[in-house]
This record gives sequence, structure tokens and C-alpha cells, in this order.
Amino acid sequence: MKTLGLVVPCYNEQDVLELFYTETIKVIGALSNQYSCEIVFVDDGSTDNTLSIMKTLAMKDPAVRYISFSRNFGKEAAMLAGMKYTVRFDYTAILDADLQHSPDLIPEMLRCIEEEGYDVAAAKRVDRTGAALTGKLSDLFYKVINAVSETKINSSAQDFRVMKKNVVEAVLSMPEGNRFSKGIFAWVGFNVKWIEHEDRERAAGQTKWSFTKLFRYALDGILGFTSMPLKLSYFCSVVFLLISLIALVYSIVRNIADPLYTSAAPLLLAGMFFIGAVILFVLGVMGAYLSRIYAEAKGRPAYIISQTNTRQKYLEGE
Ligand code: UDP
Ligand code: MG
Repeated sequence: MKTLGLVVPCYNEQDVLELFYTETIKVIGALSNQYSCEIVFVDDGSTDNTLSIMKTLAMKDPAVRYISFSRNFGKEAAMLAGMKYTVRFDYTAILDADLQHSPDLIPEMLRCIEEEGYDVAAAKRVDRTGAALTGKLSDLFYKVINAVSETKINSSAQDFRVMKKNVVEAVLSMPEGNRFSKGIFAWVGFNVKWIEHEDRERAAGQTKWSFTKLFRYALDGILGFTSMPLKLSYFCSVVFLLISLIALVYSIVRNIADPLYTSAAPLLLAGMFFIGAVILFVLGVMGAYLSRIYAEAKGRPAYIISQTNTRQKYLEGE
């Protein structure tokens, strides 16, 4: 029998947790002749009764596990902790506690992996139900990140997915602390089946994402997956050099054409912008080295193997 682990990040979800459990257990129950399942609730430092509800569920049902954080570390950390546990299973599913990610889709995702040979089956949003402003901002964010980053991130991709064990291992092999899962999932690659999925209304409770949290999340994405900001000074340097040249040419032409012209201002301007350009260029060079150091410091693997007929451990240098 195959094994399946469900990772459920929860932050102050007391209103919805029991409902989530009853809905999910129906789906798991229907699968129980093929899969042995465990639900792993990760309590991300909730300040309400979330943890005690988890404990009650775990007491009733041995297939329920819980992991409770000492404080709120964010959904990314919660998913990481959950996956560290479920990597021992053949399949790992990730879904939100608020039932926006319909557990009914899990059997279909498993089918895509087992029968169609995909490594990952992930949900992609058909329409965005969030507020108009955050929706627009988020579209802008994906445009920016996809323009400057080598890792292309599907703007409608959701965290809701089922992954094979080797994909989870690949995700865990990225040791970075500031995790941006959408980028990490895209970075590791593999064959992904995208399944259209319409977010349901939150079953109960409220969204845990404030504007500042979303902003920080977007910043994590940009800083984690591009070194563009570090290279900005190169571009500024070129602009400054151009201004300096224009001022220089103006000064020369004006002096030749008009013998009575005595102002040194254009020349001074040219000199100032030239020095500025030199400084920015040097900063750009430092930025280039810094971005290398940053890339190395993230300690990402140089490659991820999806299939081989050699013994994998030799390739991993163990
Ligand atoms: N979540 C979490 N830690 C946080 C914020 C959210 O574990 O700091 C969980 C939350 O409990 C939910 C999921 O992440 O299961 C998605 O959060 P939410 O539904 O609030 O986000 P939205 O669907 O509104 O984007
Ligand atoms: Mg939600």
C-alpha cells in the first residue's frame, strides 16, 4: 500500500479546523483501500485554540499528527516542517486549512501522478477571488519577477499540490532560510500537471495575510530569486556616463561656437557626472561579486536528478 502525507499549515484556524478534518477524512476514507494516509497539522504559533483542537483530533485519530511552533514563523516555515516529516511517505500533499483548497481534488491529483506519469500535480487558479488591489499588485509582482529572474513562476500557481517523494526531497535539498515556495517549486522543475482549480470561499475565520505580510512575501521572492537589485548600479552608471558626455559635448561646442562664452558650469557638470558614473560602476562590480556570494550562500544544489539507472548515492557524493 502506498503512503500519503497531508501537510496542513494552520495559523489561528480554530473556527475551521474541525470542519476541515471532517471534510478531509471523507476523501481519505474513500482512498483508504489504496493509500495509508496521515494528516500533519502544523500549528504556526497560533494564539487561539488551534493547538488544543489538533490535540483532540490526534487523540481520536491515530492518523493525525501535529507539530506546533513556538511562535508564528509564517506559512513557508510551516510547510517546510510538514514536508520534513512527510518526506518519508510516497506522496506529500499540501493544502490550506481553510478549505479554500478543496480536498476533493486530491484523488484526481494522485491519479495524474500514478497514471499519467507526472511528478507533481498542482492547482492553478482560474480566477482570483482576492481583493482587486492585491490582485493587481500580485500580477505586477509576477510580471517583474518573471522579467528579471531565470526561474519562471506561474502567476496562477498555488501552493496546493501533491508531490512524489523525490520532488519533496529536492525541495528539502534547498537549505535557504528565507523560503519562497512558489519560487522553490518552480526552481526544482520536474513534470508538473497543472489542474485548474477555483478557490472556494474560506469556510470560516479570516485571511491571515495582511498587506505587510504579502509585501514581505513578495520581497522574499524578488530577493531570493533574482540578484537584479544588486546590478541596478550598473544601469545608473551608464545613465550617468551619458549625461556626463552630453554635458562635455555641450561645453565644447558652446565654447567653439561662441568665443564670449565663459561659463564653466557644463564642464563641471560633466566632471561630476563622470565621477558619479565611475563610483556607480565600481559599486556594480561589487554587486556582481556580492550576487555570486549570495548565490553560493544559499547553498542550493547545482542540479537535481529526476531519473537515473545508476545508483543515485554515487551522484550525490555520499
Ligand atoms: N498560514 C500559516 N501561517 C501564517 C499565515 C497563514 O500557517 O503566518 C496558513 C493559514 O492557516 C492557512 C494558509 O496558511 O491554512 C493560507 O492562509 P490564508 O487562508 O489566511 O491565506 P489566503 O487564502 O487568504 O491567501
Ligand atoms: Mg485561504
